[in-house]
Amino acid sequence: MSEHALRKHLEFYRDLGFEELFVGSSEAEQERGAEDPKADAAPGAEVPAQPAPAPTAPLDESPAAAPPASEASPEQKLSPLQVIQEDIGDCTRCRLHKCRKTIVFGSGNPNAKLVFIGEGPGADEDAQGLPFVGRAGQLLTRMIDGTCERIGLPVRRPDVYICNVVKCRPPDNRAPELDEMEICGQFLFRQVKAIQPKAICVLGGTAAKALLRPGVGITKLRGNWTEWGGIRVMPTYHPSYLLRGYNPEGKRQAFEDLKEVFTYVYK
Ligand code: SF4
Repeated sequence: MSEHALRKHLEFYRDLGFEELFVGSSEAEQERGAEDPKADAAPGAEVPAQPAPAPTAPLDESPAAAPPASEASPEQKLSPLQVIQEDIGDCTRCRLHKCRKTIVFGSGNPNAKLVFIGEGPGADEDAQGLPFVGRAGQLLTRMIDGTCERIGLPVRRPDVYICNVVKCRPPDNRAPELDEMEICGQFLFRQVKAIQPKAICVLGGTAAKALLRPGVGITKLRGNWTEWGGIRVMPTYHPSYLLRGYNPEGKRQAFEDLKEVFTYVYK
């Protein structure tokens, strides 16, 4: 990216209210591609461990941006996640705001050791303002609770944190576009930074595309540990995929993936 284009890019995000910028998958991939000969590995090749994403770029380094140390701002009384939620506000930063009913921020334990990330809210989530509450969400609950029960862990869904890459429902349940994930992904990045989990479980190909490697399908990614921002990431199937027809092999694989994740995080 040329210096001029980079400046425009940073200005775009600063105008959206972001104070620091997480360089998401598309740009990080371009940068990695220049350095990493394995970046274009053919589908089916062993999935290499991913380097940490590019560092955040401060968008305003002027001294005026930082409040005086002695002055306690109202934000200091809020938890880190609440500050992010306040910053989102009645967000209109991308086109997805046009048809949402509610912004679905995330739910669960704010100090969770494990974060699940899906792609975006569906109709039930949009109506209730909570992630993964529809049929796919109920299956996710059974997968989490059932897996932990089978491996003897006292962990249940409220113990983990669950959110999506985009916080507003895409129209007609379409997949979020890359630019929408790039913009809303700034909030996701801050959420993960605030929670500091030991691991992330990415649900489905779209969320994996946002965080990890565009061009590599979830069937190749699933079951292999990778990394995002210094945190171990396990991609697996989205529960809505597992609900589509008779899919015992997919369910078995998803169970294996969750078993691996929960064992790593909690045992
Ligand atoms: S999807 Fe995210 S960035 Fe887009 S309008 Fe909703 S909250 Fe804002």
